[in-house]
Amino acid sequence: MTATLIDGRAVAERLRERVAARTAELAQHGLIPGLAVVLVGEDPASQVYVGSKTKQAAAAGLRHFDHRLPATTSTAELIALVEKLNAQADVHGILVQLPLPAGVDSAAVLAAIDPDKDVDGFHAVNAGRLALGQEATVPCTPLGCLILIREATRELAGKRAVVVGRSNIVGKPMAQLLLQNDCTVTIAHSRTRDLAQLCREADILVAAIGRPKAIAGDWIRPGAIVIDVGINRIVGPDGKNKLVGDVDFEAALPHAGAITPVPGGVGPMTIACLLMNTVNAAIRSKAGAVGAPLGVK
Ligand code: NDP
Repeated sequence: MTATLIDGRAVAERLRERVAARTAELAQHGLIPGLAVVLVGEDPASQVYVGSKTKQAAAAGLRHFDHRLPATTSTAELIALVEKLNAQADVHGILVQLPLPAGVDSAAVLAAIDPDKDVDGFHAVNAGRLALGQEATVPCTPLGCLILIREATRELAGKRAVVVGRSNIVGKPMAQLLLQNDCTVTIAHSRTRDLAQLCREADILVAAIGRPKAIAGDWIRPGAIVIDVGINRIVGPDGKNKLVGDVDFEAALPHAGAITPVPGGVGPMTIACLLMNTVNAAIRSKAGAVGAPLGVK
């Protein structure tokens, strides 16, 4: 058996098309979803991410407001900017690009964001809403993973899901989403005993570890859906840099039923879900007057 590839680029493109179509409808109600992007300092990777986010936002018809601040910006100055954006009616989503420079209290800055404009879904209020099964803004990467899982199967109820990694931005919200979808969920981490055996029980395996090829091929249950969140840079046998996931992809192919590649799997979904979260924040700001938010198909 060779696993079916779950094509994140194609799924993300379809999601961006849905976002663009909904944005065009909203424009007829005079509502243009607005995303404020705050970038502090000169970190090259952050500049690339922010560039992609604003470009894709514009392509989908969203308005974006760019705030580029020097690395010397203080926590108080950043919080003041966030409060201004909280009050700005044409801003529906606020994204503060992480990591913030050393010396800035990131937690305090993120906590200052109005939870209804927290399109990254990192605010404690959104984490709490998700845990309580209430309408919440869900962090973009696990939301994208759920959409990819649903590409592979619509029958999640009763499935055994194992999420490897317990970060607040990927592992924990991923587990909550799978639980909401009636999976039986186990969260594994660096102190988990016999990870290999645990993974072998998984109908759905999500790896969000940050260690190249940490999940071996024979850890995959035959036919399992494997979602590889990891993005790891390694030097390949040809001496060139390459990106690999947390799963040994080649070794997993004969075992898995469906698997996401790296790159081209989870990665493209993250920004597409950010756009979806922003459009949904705009829709919710009108309290039902412009229809329902976009859902996970
Ligand atoms: P974190 O470093 O915050 O969390 C990693 C998790 O993996 C921790 O819970 C840690 O356990 C666990 N872990 C580490 N080593 C092992 C091990 N040997 N066995 C089992 N568990 C282990 O990472 P993130 O959640 O932020 O990111 C995970 C990966 O996903 C990274 O490669 C990151 O680059 C990628 N990523 C990709 C995104 C995308 O858009 N595709 C977006 C976000 C992240 P413990 O808690 O015990 O330390």
